[in-house]
Amino acid sequence: MEDLIVIGGGLAGSEAAWQAAQSGLNVSLFEMRPKTATGAHESADLAELVCSNSLGSNLPDRASGLLKNELRRLGSMLLECAEASALPAGAALAVDRGLFARLVTQKIESHPRIQLIRQEATEIPDSPTIIASGPLTSARMSASIAALNGEEHLYFFDAISPIVSAETINMEIAFRASRYEKGDLDEGDYINCPFDRAQYKTFVDELRAAPRIELRSFEQVIQNGVTAGAHTFFEGCLPVEVIAERGEKSLAFGPMRPIGLDDPRTGRRAHAVVQLRQDNLAGDMYNLVGFQTNLKFAEQKRVFRLIPGLEQAEFLRYGQMHRNTFIAAPKILRPTLQHKTRDDLFFAGQITGVEGYMGNIATGLLAGQNAVRVLQKREPLILPPTSMLGALCHYVTHADMRDFQPMKANFGILPALENSARISKRDRARMYAERALHDLENYLTAYV
Ligand SMILES: Cc1cc2nc3c(=O)[nH]c(=O)nc-3n(C[C@H](O)[C@H](O)[C@H](O)COP(=O)(O)OP(=O)(O)OC[C@H]3O[C@@H](n4cnc5c(N)ncnc54)[C@H](O)[C@@H]3O)c2cc1C
Repeated sequence: MEDLIVIGGGLAGSEAAWQAAQSGLNVSLFEMRPKTATGAHESADLAELVCSNSLGSNLPDRASGLLKNELRRLGSMLLECAEASALPAGAALAVDRGLFARLVTQKIESHPRIQLIRQEATEIPDSPTIIASGPLTSARMSASIAALNGEEHLYFFDAISPIVSAETINMEIAFRASRYEKGDLDEGDYINCPFDRAQYKTFVDELRAAPRIELRSFEQVIQNGVTAGAHTFFEGCLPVEVIAERGEKSLAFGPMRPIGLDDPRTGRRAHAVVQLRQDNLAGDMYNLVGFQTNLKFAEQKRVFRLIPGLEQAEFLRYGQMHRNTFIAAPKILRPTLQHKTRDDLFFAGQITGVEGYMGNIATGLLAGQNAVRVLQKREPLILPPTSMLGALCHYVTHADMRDFQPMKANFGILPALENSARISKRDRARMYAERALHDLENYLTAYV
C-alpha cells in the first residue's frame, strides 16, 4: 500500500514523486499515457516537453536562472536530468527533449519506492495525494476537480489578444490618453480608437457573426462523453465575441468602455473605445487590450479593421485561444500548495496557475517535499516570498481573483528592494537574485 498518490507523470508529477520517494515514502504515480492521449504529448515517456526544448536562461541574474539556482539548492532531480541532456544554447538551458524524458523515465521506473501505474486517475483519492495532471488534465479528472472546488473555480482556456504594428495605426483618428488622465496629450500610455454609435453597432454585429477557429481535439473539453467545447472560460479572460453575444451593450460596458477617455481633440466622450497598449520596449507593437479572441485569423483582420483607426492595421500576431486547465488557486490553495480544505491534498505544476517548465518542476518539488513533511507530522514549508519559488507560490495563492492569470517566474513578483530607485536594471536583478538565495539558505537552515 502506498503512502502517497501522485496523479500525472509530467514535469511536476515526476519531480514530486521523486522527492517523496527519496525521503522514504512509497509512491504510486499515475500516468495515463500512452493508453490515454492528451493530444499534445507524443511519446509514452514521463516529463515530455510538449513544445519548446528550452528551459529558459541559465544566467544567475535572470528570473529563470535564479529559479534554477534555487532548484539546484533544493535538489531537483529533473534539473539534473536537464543538465545531463543539455544542448549548446548560449546562456539558455536547452535540452535534447527525447533524452531528457528518457532519463527522467528511467529514474522513476528504477526507483524502489515508486510504482508507475499507466492508468488514468478519474477520481481524487481520499488518501494523501498530489494532483499534477497539467494543462491537459483528462476530462474525468477535470470533472472531479470541479466537483471538489466548484465548477466556477476551474478554468479550461487561456486567450491572447492580437498585436498590431504601431506605425499602421491611423493617429488622425486614434488618440493617446490614459483613462481619467488630465493634461498633456502625449503623456497618454494608451492609444484609443473611438467609435460612434453606428460604428459600434456594425462592429458588434460583425463580431457576433464572424466564423471562429474550431478547437483541436486536445483543446476540447469532454465531460461525461459530451463535448462541452470552449464554454468554460475564465471570466476575466473572455473572448470578445463571447462578451458580444451576451448583449449588444456588453462590450461598451466591458473592454470597450469609454469612461474617463474623452477625446482630447473634441473634449467629447466616444460611444465606445478600443484601447491599445504598448507591447514591446521599442514601442512599435501594440496589443488590443482585453481583446482575447478565437475568431479565424482572416476574420480578425476583417472585423478588427472595422475599429476606427485600425482600417489599415498590420497584424503582427493574431489572437488565439489554447487549452489550459488551471484552478482558482487564490481561493483554493495555500502557499504550501495544500488544498485549503484538506491538509493531505496538494496541487502542483501548471494546474496551480504557475507557468513555464521550470516553475512547474519547482512546484512539483515543493509539493513532494511538503507531502513528506505533512505525513511526518512536521510543518510544511512556506518558502520566503523573496525567493523566486516562494514568490510564485505566494503569487498564485494571493493574487486578486479579478485578474488572476497563470504566472511565470519574473522579478516583478518579488517584494521590491529598499532604496533601489536609482539602481540600474541589471544591478537590481543581481540584488534580487542575491537576496533570494541568501533568504532561502537562511530559511532552509532554520526549518529543514
Ligand atoms: C500545447 C502546449 C504547448 C506548451 N508549450 C510550452 C513551452 O514551450 N514552454 C513552457 O514553459 N511551457 C509550455 N506549455 C506549458 C507546459 O505544459 C508546462 O510548462 C508543463 O509541461 C506543465 O507541467 P505539468 O507537470 O504541470 O504538466 P504536464 O507536463 O503536461 O504533465 C501532466 C501529465 O499528467 C498526465 N495526466 C493528465 N490527466 C491525467 C489523469 N487523469 N490521470 C493520469 N495522468 C494524467 C498527462 O498525460 C501528463 O503526462 C505548453 C502547454 C501546452 C498544452
